[in-house]
Amino acid sequence: MLVILRRIVQEVSSASDLSQALNIMVNRVAQAIQTEACSVYLLNRQKKRYILGAAFGLPEGCEVSLQLNEGLVGLVGSRAESINVSDAMAHPHFHYVPETQEERFKAYLGVPIIHQRKVVGVLVVQQQAARKFTEAEEAFLVTVSAQLAGVIAHVQETGQLLVINQSALDPEPTCVGIGGASGVALGQAVISYALIDLNNIPDRDITDIYREQRRFMKAVAATKLEIKKIWQRLVSTLPAEEASLFDAYLQILDSATLASEVLNNIAEGQWAPGALRSVVQKRIAVFEAMDDPYLQERARDVEDLARRLMVHLLSYQRQQIEYPDNTILIGEEISASILAEVPEDKLRAIISGKGSINSHVAILARAMGIPAVMGISGLVSAITEGDRVIVDGYSGNIFVSPSDSLQQKYQKLADAEKALHKSLTKLKKLPAQTVDGHRVHMWVNTGLVADIRPSLEVGAEGVGLYRTEVPFMIRDRFPSEDEQYLIYRQLLESFAPRSVIVRTLDVGGDKPLPYFNVIEDNPSLGWRGLRLTLDHPEIFLCQLRALFRAMPGLNNARIMLPMVSNMSEVDESLKLIYQAFEEVRQEGAEIQFPEIGAMIEVPAAVALIPYMAQKLDFFSVGSNDLTQYLLAVDRNNAHVANLYDYLHPAVLQTLKHIVTTAHTYRKMVSLCGEMAGDPAVAILLLGMGYDALSMSSASLPRVKWVIRSFTLQQAERVLEEVLLMDDAKKIRLHLNKALEDAGLMSLVRPGK
Ligand code: PEP
Ligand code: MG
Repeated sequence: MLVILRRIVQEVSSASDLSQALNIMVNRVAQAIQTEACSVYLLNRQKKRYILGAAFGLPEGCEVSLQLNEGLVGLVGSRAESINVSDAMAHPHFHYVPETQEERFKAYLGVPIIHQRKVVGVLVVQQQAARKFTEAEEAFLVTVSAQLAGVIAHVQETGQLLVINQSALDPEPTCVGIGGASGVALGQAVISYALIDLNNIPDRDITDIYREQRRFMKAVAATKLEIKKIWQRLVSTLPAEEASLFDAYLQILDSATLASEVLNNIAEGQWAPGALRSVVQKRIAVFEAMDDPYLQERARDVEDLARRLMVHLLSYQRQQIEYPDNTILIGEEISASILAEVPEDKLRAIISGKGSINSHVAILARAMGIPAVMGISGLVSAITEGDRVIVDGYSGNIFVSPSDSLQQKYQKLADAEKALHKSLTKLKKLPAQTVDGHRVHMWVNTGLVADIRPSLEVGAEGVGLYRTEVPFMIRDRFPSEDEQYLIYRQLLESFAPRSVIVRTLDVGGDKPLPYFNVIEDNPSLGWRGLRLTLDHPEIFLCQLRALFRAMPGLNNARIMLPMVSNMSEVDESLKLIYQAFEEVRQEGAEIQFPEIGAMIEVPAAVALIPYMAQKLDFFSVGSNDLTQYLLAVDRNNAHVANLYDYLHPAVLQTLKHIVTTAHTYRKMVSLCGEMAGDPAVAILLLGMGYDALSMSSASLPRVKWVIRSFTLQQAERVLEEVLLMDDAKKIRLHLNKALEDAGLMSLVRPGK
């Protein structure tokens, strides 16, 4: 059935006009379920009638127009439910239209065609025999109408036939995962088998405890050496900052707790592999139980590291792999360290059975500009070494041994992407300036040292949001003042003379610290951000002192306060900032007092802008949280994910109000939530008058291109139109149209 269905959608989609599309539809459906009549009625909203659009098996040229509640068609439409009866004429709602000569047919099945919760038409099949259509036939018809609903709705809205569901044209993917890094690639499968399954390591008693402990420490030393080698290799292809993800591994190995726990276990008479397995399994369980997806993923890092240790403990020999020039690296679990073993110029894409967009391997893939698809179970059994594979990092689709035509299609996409990338790199040195000379600053959001190089490469003018919590989250204790100093100094030096907005610690909520456990019923509305650090001035002051100590000779840092909801929080923060500044200055550091700003991410803060403007220097909108709090939609809850949309009119109106107010007080205002990196949204933020946009480095070139393609006036006009709309989906369509009109449709999805 699927094959037939796909063929019908394909044929309908490639029709040149609506009438041809509908004719194909009714003919193919009748053929597929071998019935004597099939007809499609379209709802004409203006006329409030169902009009027969096409029919198979009814007299040629017959015209039928039914009122909204007339006949079985009207009943299907008004109930938005299928009707399946063995004798249509016996139904009380039956309405006879002589032209149709329907008296010949007894069996009747009508299904509504529904698009975005609205009925747009009714699809009917009829048969002479008095029988009910089977469940399978009904399911087929419902599926056909669901597939075609988008096409019909689009025609009704725009008057043109357009293939909306492009993916329906593609064959079924072999497997579907989560897009971990965007882009498409074609290449040859190289399977990486997991080194060792920890769960298979048995317990074993030993007597020579000292010998076993020495064996473990030797394995630790060998693993450290191996990781350092990977690091060095990465440094030769990527600068040191990229490779510093492996810092975390070395830190875990260096941390006294892991080693001493294993040594203690051995001291109780357990052999080293068993001791390691049990310690690591406990740690993995702790990470896996965390709510925060980023931290959950850290379980995989611990596991990867433990496997490496196990290889040394058990003296396994790892085979050398020959990587082809177009390697698609595939494994049930690709770790960042396995990825790092493939020469960068040979790696085309990554497919990992486990993992999510927060896995280190996905983070690295994004930094390297390589597509990645994560989270596909049973993957390795579906692909054989050497298979030709297509990876679509946008949709998460994987095609194994694809047809020539599909390969050609994806090759075209990959080429278009390359061309787009090339033209975007040319933008690096050009300012983000509209056609009529209006300037917008382009900043990046960072948190990992790994982000520094890509940020500079795309021509970021500074850092609009440095998330200081990231170095806190990847450790197993609070980083000391000296440790923080080193991180901040490296950050400020790498970007100097560009400005860097350092956000003070924003933990709690969806970003708990593993070593600072806070159990709350409602963490997003609880003890997070400034609320937590003001209650712990020792943590706050330690961070501020480290930051001030990192400033001498650079003076490019600004400080930003997260989760402000009351003026008293601003006052108390300023007091602590002054205190730390004075302390560090009196210790001899030559520093200037930096600009201080607040994030506008709690709706209450919007009303405080006039008051904050008296005491602060700038504002930055955290649209991720602002959206969550304005719409009362948890940003991490999949059940309500469909309601989380930053194009909601309430969000857009608030964003406009924020800029207008901030500018009234002559304060600079930026936006640093995810929406800043959405090329279509850039038009709106430009039109609203945001002074700076801060986003991931990967998004920056596309957004810059949009800014350079519009005049301020055009952007203001699009904004005006959008602010009159009542629904996020309509707004998205309108913005896509604006991009299309400006010749930028490729930004929505390259090559499409
Ligand atoms: C935001 O809320 O938009 C923001 C940038 O902060 P975070 O995503 O780190 O909460
Ligand atoms: Mg936030």
